Amino acid sequence: MSSSIFGHLEASLHDYLEDVSRRAQTGDDFAAMHLARAELPRIAAALRAVLAEHEPDEKGRCRTCRTRRFGRAAAPCRAYLTAHLCLLVTEDDQPGDSIHINAALLRHHLGA
Ligand SMILES: [Zn+2]
Repeated sequence: MSSSIFGHLEASLHDYLEDVSRRAQTGDDFAAMHLARAELPRIAAALRAVLAEHEPDEKGRCRTCRTRRFGRAAAPCRAYLTAHLCLLVTEDDQPGDSIHINAALLRHHLGA
């Protein structure tokens, strides 16, 4: 793990998300209620803030995902694609095995 400030920031965020996921999967009803009322709105607000950084321009292109200074902005935005894939693609959309979203799957879908 990186010892940079970003490395600590990244680690603390991953730890938080892992903790929330674990409590959601294994916690009792009180824990689930607490997550729904306290943590879920915070997570939604965080996602909204991230997506606000990727607000598309008038042509539907994302300035944040632009790869070069004068390069063409990404369309559709990868942040929006990732959020959509993680939140709105359900098991009903994919017959067969259940979907487990991970970094490799996202890279595959995003062509990264
Ligand atoms: Zn973007």
